[in-house]
Amino acid sequence: MFGSGLLKGLGITLKHFADTFTDDAKDVPSRYQDSIQLDSKRRIIDQPVDQEGILTIQYPEEKRLLPERFRYIPMLIWDTEKGEDKCTACGICAKVCPPMCIWIVRDSDEKGKPITRPSEFYIDASICMSCSFCVEFCPFDAIQMNHDYELAVFDRYPQLIYDMEELTVPVEYYAAMWPVRHAEEEELVRQAEAEEKAKAEAKARADAEKAAVKAAASEAAPAAGKATTESEAAAPADDAAAAKKARLEELKRQAAEKARQRKENG
Ligand code: SF4
Ligand code: SF4
Repeated sequence: MFGSGLLKGLGITLKHFADTFTDDAKDVPSRYQDSIQLDSKRRIIDQPVDQEGILTIQYPEEKRLLPERFRYIPMLIWDTEKGEDKCTACGICAKVCPPMCIWIVRDSDEKGKPITRPSEFYIDASICMSCSFCVEFCPFDAIQMNHDYELAVFDRYPQLIYDMEELTVPVEYYAAMWPVRHAEEEELVRQAEAEEKAKAEAKARADAEKAAVKAAASEAAPAAGKATTESEAAAPADDAAAAKKARLEELKRQAAEKARQRKENG
């Protein structure tokens, strides 16, 4: 029917209007349920995924509570327990970064020998496309995606080129931002450590068993040597018995021959 599509569209708009009004009018749950009040003017709103209606967030006074997997610009993780960067300057993240916006300079010791630590680390946030490849490929969980998206500046260069100091955050910051992922990583680390420990214990047990077998063998060796000596000693005795037997047989033959000759001579 002519105009049915128009009426359908208007119906959907009307439904959204009604849902919005209903949602705003409800006290519980309200749009501010589970929100985080930052100060008297600002709050972060946790908007449910099944939210009905058109919810207008009064940014910047109000912001959405971001889901854990939200990605913006990478951050480097500082291991608070060890007091060092997790990054080893392996350069994998720079190699896999599609727009090549990561630069790393590896640090070196006083003799000029390269060491597993970056002295400089830059990310050009103006060309980073938040793909998270660097995070996925980092073998040390040293780089993660930050949620901080309020990065507006007046000059693109150099303000959007972040250096190591600007990129580095303590591991606790990352753990609070990515609680599930952080817990999974910690669990994997724990499992790997447990496997390493089990392997080391198994190796120690195998080494101890080998040492015990070796010790038993070296104890048995003199006895075996003695047996060998006895068997070596037994060999000449056997030879002597055989010779004696052969001599007796020969004497018997000679005696039989003499008896035959006496008989013939009468
Ligand atoms: S962040 Fe990860 S992948 Fe990149 S250099 Fe450091 S350790 Fe290597
Ligand atoms: S998120 Fe993607 S584009 Fe940005 S630095 Fe990492 S790999 Fe490069």
